[in-house]
Amino acid sequence: MTYQSPVADILFSLNHVAGLDAEVRAGLFGDLDSETIASVIGEAGRFATDAIAPLNRIGDTEGAHYENGRVTMPKGFREVYKQWAAAGWAGVTASPEFGGMGLPHVVNFACGEIWNGASMGFALCPLLTEGALGALNAHGSQALRETYMRKLISGEWTGTMNLTEPQAGSDLNAVKSRAERAPDGSYRIFGQKIFITYGEHDLADNIIHLVLARLPDAPAGTRGLSLFLVPKFLLKADGSLGARNDVRCAGIEHKLGIHASPTCVMVYGDSGGATGYLVGEENKGLAAMFVMMNSARLAVGLQGVAIGERAYQHALAYARERRQGREPGHPGMAPILDHPDVHRMLLTMKSLVQAARGICHLTGIAIDRSFHAPTKEARATAADRAALLTPIAKAYSSEIGDLVASKGVQIFGGMGYIEETGAAQFMRDARIAAIYEGANGIQAIDLVQRKIALEGGETVRREIAGIREIAADVAARGIEAFGATARRLGEAANALDTSTKYLLEALARDPADALAGATPYLRLFGLALGGACLAKAGLAEQGQANGAAPLGRVALARFFAEKLATAAPGLAETVLSGDAALKSYESALQEFA
Ligand SMILES: Cc1cc2nc3c(=O)[nH]c(=O)nc-3n(C[C@H](O)[C@H](O)[C@H](O)COP(=O)(O)OP(=O)(O)OC[C@H]3O[C@@H](n4cnc5c(N)ncnc54)[C@H](O)[C@@H]3O)c2cc1C
Repeated sequence: MTYQSPVADILFSLNHVAGLDAEVRAGLFGDLDSETIASVIGEAGRFATDAIAPLNRIGDTEGAHYENGRVTMPKGFREVYKQWAAAGWAGVTASPEFGGMGLPHVVNFACGEIWNGASMGFALCPLLTEGALGALNAHGSQALRETYMRKLISGEWTGTMNLTEPQAGSDLNAVKSRAERAPDGSYRIFGQKIFITYGEHDLADNIIHLVLARLPDAPAGTRGLSLFLVPKFLLKADGSLGARNDVRCAGIEHKLGIHASPTCVMVYGDSGGATGYLVGEENKGLAAMFVMMNSARLAVGLQGVAIGERAYQHALAYARERRQGREPGHPGMAPILDHPDVHRMLLTMKSLVQAARGICHLTGIAIDRSFHAPTKEARATAADRAALLTPIAKAYSSEIGDLVASKGVQIFGGMGYIEETGAAQFMRDARIAAIYEGANGIQAIDLVQRKIALEGGETVRREIAGIREIAADVAARGIEAFGATARRLGEAANALDTSTKYLLEALARDPADALAGATPYLRLFGLALGGACLAKAGLAEQGQANGAAPLGRVALARFFAEKLATAAPGLAETVLSGDAALKSYESALQEFA
């Protein structure tokens, strides 16, 4: 079955759920118009469908290959990457000053979903480059920006993000890589990083590593981390490539999925120290890295959406063709699509994907508003909204990618378990998104410990009020096709509200109580907000159709509200039971240890 980039669904969600069209008309992006945005996303969809998607299978079966410090990419990757870069896709949001298109962030996130749907193994390279660009742009000196950004934006060079070490994964306090000041103002970097995505490859002429390391006199913990730019090839005075820097790839990992994406062990400073340049200020590296991490987190959430969408398209095509069992009215065996259980699985897949896409787009537009909104207050409010929604976009969407890809395998039955059908690859690829860029458990902690307390709880209260408004809007229209959507959405909003109040109070009293419910709370947030996104899309479709056309988006919102969002009150109960309930189960772990 041929995969089609879901351009129409993406544009509908951007314009009618996230309100991009309205922001464009209000002048948030100067004289940019919606037609230009639609044509860029349409072109990305064509390129992804025609050129990148055919690489997906070969990327999985052939994988990246390591030999003597060099990594060779699977057949076809280099050629397609060159075409992708030549078309300017590495610079969608980058400033035109450095050769970029200067488009909104949310447009680039939409393109990111498109690249990942076509091949996650391919798309990880741009994802990391984008993060490196973000950090450089926000924190690099003018000289660093001028030297490195143009080539990253043209795609001639790529970027990486080096945080993880064997003893330092979720806990970056334990980072040991070290940096020494050199007399010429540069630094020498020493240490080993693991799991570095696209740390070495043959797609580009140079690789720009952003590396967290510790200066000799730095304070302990994350407050003593600095960020350094370490190029694979040093540059000559005229900017051309010079000597090889003291950094090498010592091997790549053999993984469950994303076989085309080389996950590298990187060794810095074997021969006297890798030359690095400080990005931002000494000991403020984590703050600079966070610029990369926030956009990368949303981008990883969209990987979940992307793989979920692809798994859905694949499963739907199979369910139409595969015949098993009998249904009244069918002379022979019925397509499995006609069986209620398969129908339910497909609706679950589609509605979860659309809900997560909506959440990601809301987050993306909040990021854009945090840069471009007309007043300082509006920019601050948008930044808080983006901060609140980022862990939800990352964790809820990546969890959905995992779940939806698994349901795809289920719809294929035994054939889903056989590699040749491709359903298993989606499941293997999707799994990592819940782990990297801050494991989902860490995202839930971030949401509860830091994000719901933003503006003394005002940011989260506004979000809940927004969900209630949408539920009220659905109720006010009195459209039969929405069924119990308004009621179920209202109940989900109430469950979220009660849980939020409890957590805000528990945080002040006993943080362990709050953290015990962090993951169910994040899931509850995703359900309530995702349900609101679908309802908003349904309302927009109903408004456009004027009662005439089939209301697929209304039906999808109704399915989600009536069949999935009903879990919200149960999740709230789990949150409210706190740490004491969790402790009471401890004997189980002891007995079965
Ligand atoms: C394919 C792949 C690509 C990657 N790419 C990169 C990259 O490009 N750059 C990079 O720097 N890193 C990268 N990583 C590393 C990735 O970000 C880490 O694996 C991730 O942050 C988790 O760290 P860990 O593996 O050490 O797990 P751990 O930190 O050991 O966590 C294990 C489990 O314990 C939980 N846990 C840990 N601490 C806590 C806590 N305080 N409270 C509650 N639960 C906790 C976690 O949620 C998780 O479920 C990559 C990893 C993989 C597998």
